[in-house]
Amino acid sequence: MKKKKFKMQNVNKSITIAIDELPDNVVVYKFQEDDFIFVYMNKNAEKTENVAKDELIGKKLAEAFPEAKDFGLFDILLKVYEDGKPREFDTRFYTDEKMKCWRYNSVRKLSSDELIVFYKDMTKCKQLEDKLHLLDKETAQERKKIQLLAKALEQTDDMVFITDVNGIIEYVNDSVLVKTGYERSELIGNKTNILKSGKHTDTFYKELWETILSGKNYNSIIIDKTKDKRLYYADLKITPLFDENETIQNFVATSTDVTSRIKVEEKLKKLATTDSLTQIYNRYEIDNAIKMKIARYRRYKETFCLLMFDIDHFKSVNDTYGHDAGDRVLKALSHLVSNHIRTTDIFGRWGGEEFMILLENTKTEEAFVIAEKLRKIVETSLIDGKYTITVSMGVAQYEEMESREELVKRVDKALYKAKEKGRNQIVVA
Ligand code: GH3
Ligand code: MG
Ligand code: MG
Repeated sequence: MKKKKFKMQNVNKSITIAIDELPDNVVVYKFQEDDFIFVYMNKNAEKTENVAKDELIGKKLAEAFPEAKDFGLFDILLKVYEDGKPREFDTRFYTDEKMKCWRYNSVRKLSSDELIVFYKDMTKCKQLEDKLHLLDKETAQERKKIQLLAKALEQTDDMVFITDVNGIIEYVNDSVLVKTGYERSELIGNKTNILKSGKHTDTFYKELWETILSGKNYNSIIIDKTKDKRLYYADLKITPLFDENETIQNFVATSTDVTSRIKVEEKLKKLATTDSLTQIYNRYEIDNAIKMKIARYRRYKETFCLLMFDIDHFKSVNDTYGHDAGDRVLKALSHLVSNHIRTTDIFGRWGGEEFMILLENTKTEEAFVIAEKLRKIVETSLIDGKYTITVSMGVAQYEEMESREELVKRVDKALYKAKEKGRNQIVVA
């Protein structure tokens, strides 16, 4: 019996030492006078609470930690004391204004009716967890935002490309695939010049790159090429994206197919400048061309000539074969003359059956040769396959200080003279 008691004391001592040295915080309370009295606290709890054991032992919880009631510790201890069921719970409280303490507690009732509380300080852990949670929330929000943006990008008819700073494609939306006919895998990792149409000069692309590499936005109509080599016009906008060091990270390019708009514009422009019957320039465009040549003359002294011709006795064509035949003659004649002038010559219908040719960089003598060649071609050709016609021509070289109206008047007079002299001939003003 003696032996056994001795042993028991030893065990108790060992347990007390072990508990004292536990890395956990351990506190033992006993219930007395409606409060819990500190009966024991281990070394670690002393450290955690920054208090000497002797200062607390024998004290009431309400006295030592009045706030324990507020953060619920008292109530839980009371429940465990009353029903004897162990409990695990978190407590959160402020030690001062800023520092929030977070503890994980495990409490059980001992056979001695005392309560033993093991607790861990989770503050650091919880703070980290909070941070992680917040980060996670932010990433999730960010991810959601990106998903939404990606969805929006997928739904737009506009083409969207994201490239790295070297123009290597990193992302394309579905519209790009639909428009260009490429598979996504054929575009990603490739340079945007896969779409190059060959319709622009090197300077065009140089300017584009200079603009965006200097961090500026770029906007232009560009002609690109699909996989099956069809050309299309795109209204291209490129925006550089910077990182936090103001270094360009990516380029975002959006482009809209504007082929039909450009085609309409080209058609309108053509309508505005072309004669609808003969498809050569109209009077307005010839007038413009003369204006421009005069301006050039004033700057560079570039000589040019105006050649005007009128069909001889055209009335009789109309009268004999009808107005429609007359129209066909006008068309066929325009076609014939177009095929026998230089690409730099500007040929147009001045009105009725009168035509003008503006001969660039040409002096009177050369203009006369050209006129003579044309006169002969008309005279010797079967127009519209069946008609023979002749033309009379006036030629005038632009003179210093002359106005457009004066030049036109002069060439018109020369033409009139050619008519007077018997037609099918040329008069130089
Ligand atoms: P010439 O010039 O040699 O003096 O005689 P012409 O018979 O050609 O006389 P003029 O230049 O005065 O007559 C021009 C004629 O051209 C009058 C008109 O019937 C015809 N004409 C003018 N515009 C058109 C047109 O768009 N279509 C057709 N079919 N005829 C036109
Ligand atoms: Mg006439
Ligand atoms: Mg005539």
